[in-house]
Amino acid sequence: MKDCNCIFCKIANGEIPSATLYEDSDFRVILDLNPASKGHALVLPKEHYANVFELPEDLAGKAFVVAKKVASRLSEGLGAIGFNIVQNNGEPAGQTVFHFHIHLIPRYEGDTVHV
Ligand code: 5GP
Ligand code: ZN
Repeated sequence: MKDCNCIFCKIANGEIPSATLYEDSDFRVILDLNPASKGHALVLPKEHYANVFELPEDLAGKAFVVAKKVASRLSEGLGAIGFNIVQNNGEPAGQTVFHFHIHLIPRYEGDTVHV
């Protein structure tokens, strides 16, 4: 862990327990603490990278494979009819936790989510 004060490093590496939907050697997918919709999840690399620009290319590719897999499972499990896959970089873009993550946001008929 490069940044031991990072909350997502602690969650991704299991130091802080979380509602985990998926885990492999590189990633953990957790439920968002403050969900924009039912099933809102976050794909976290276990290594610390502040944003997409720091993320190595092989992990960027793997992150999307994981995102696709978990979004598809969530969609089936929760009956979502659409999906936003969102990734914020930098404060002006809305990033609040500076450990790379991908938002998986299930969408439902008539919902009022703004992303
Ligand atoms: P960002 O704004 O950086 O793109 O997204 C950060 C997300 O992390 C937010 O949706 C926020 O609700 C979520 N979050 C912040 N702290 C925690 C935490 O300790 N646990 C979990 N599960 N989610 C968190
Ligand atoms: Zn981190």
